[in-house]
Amino acid sequence: IDEAEKFRIEYWALEEAKLARMPKPRPLATRIALVTGAASGIGKAIATRLAAEGACVVIADLDLAKAQAAAAEIGNTDVAVGVAADVSNPEAVKAAIDEAVLAFGGLDLVVNNAGLSISKPLLETTERDWDLQHDVMAKGSFLVAQAAARVLIAQGLGGDIVYIASKNSVFAGPNNIAYSAVKADQAHQVRLLAAELGEHGIKVNGVNPDGVVRGSGIFSGGWGAKRAAVYGVPEEELGAYYAQRTLLKREVLPEHVANAVFVLTGGELSHTTGLHVPVDAGVAAAFLR
Ligand code: NAD
Repeated sequence: IDEAEKFRIEYWALEEAKLARMPKPRPLATRIALVTGAASGIGKAIATRLAAEGACVVIADLDLAKAQAAAAEIGNTDVAVGVAADVSNPEAVKAAIDEAVLAFGGLDLVVNNAGLSISKPLLETTERDWDLQHDVMAKGSFLVAQAAARVLIAQGLGGDIVYIASKNSVFAGPNNIAYSAVKADQAHQVRLLAAELGEHGIKVNGVNPDGVVRGSGIFSGGWGAKRAAVYGVPEEELGAYYAQRTLLKREVLPEHVANAVFVLTGGELSHTTGLHVPVDAGVAAAFLR
């Protein structure tokens, strides 16, 4: 054999050895997941779905009682536990990750879901609005990803980090500069971490929901009312209004976002990282508002 052929053989032998050393994620049924902001809404639906697939779940949210109540709805403490954590606080984040490891013996999967939405036009957005939005969703998801990555890398079993971003990470949402800007930040965190953590077998993906009205707390506190006024419909009909403007004419519910997280982390999409999956019944594809 000539030199070129020898080089090719050695090259592929090295590549195969590298692949063999690549961590193989455990099946979802044996995985341990931490979902932030999972005491309600989309996060709770995600935790419920992952637990239904056999994973052990840690519900991390601001209020311990709410987190524990959500965990108790999912199952006993062998399957679901609630912990108090403000994701914008590094010590609290570290403590929540430690609690997950202590409760179930490891960590495989983290969902950055915690959030709030301050929906105001530019001239009404205060510095405090901007800081709060960014503390919780930009800094918070960075802190959670960093603390989780430390554990995942040390375990050497690969893992998943999922960001619940938004259609607004790509398209400008009307009159919500702070929220849309922080969602774009999260989307870029997904790409950056996918690039950095790939060699450890850690996949990092995003989900971009839109229009999840029913079951979402984010629409309370005035946002739902404002959106309803923009569209000229009563607030209780917002879900139906959102549904009819989609390509599929379907309302998006928290369970549909949970389905995407399951598919991304359940094992079948083992070679997908850095992706954002829209769960919006086609709104972003057709540039609909
Ligand atoms: P939600 O208000 O029902 O849930 C948000 C949860 O996050 C709450 O339980 C809240 O207590 C928790 N939380 C807030 N600040 C926190 C903090 N500092 N630390 C820990 N937990 C905190 O709202 P939701 O609609 O279920 O939203 C979940 C995620 O989905 C958010 O990131 C949101 O931006 C995103 N999202 C929602 C929609 C939608 O249509 N509802 C669309 C796109 C993206």
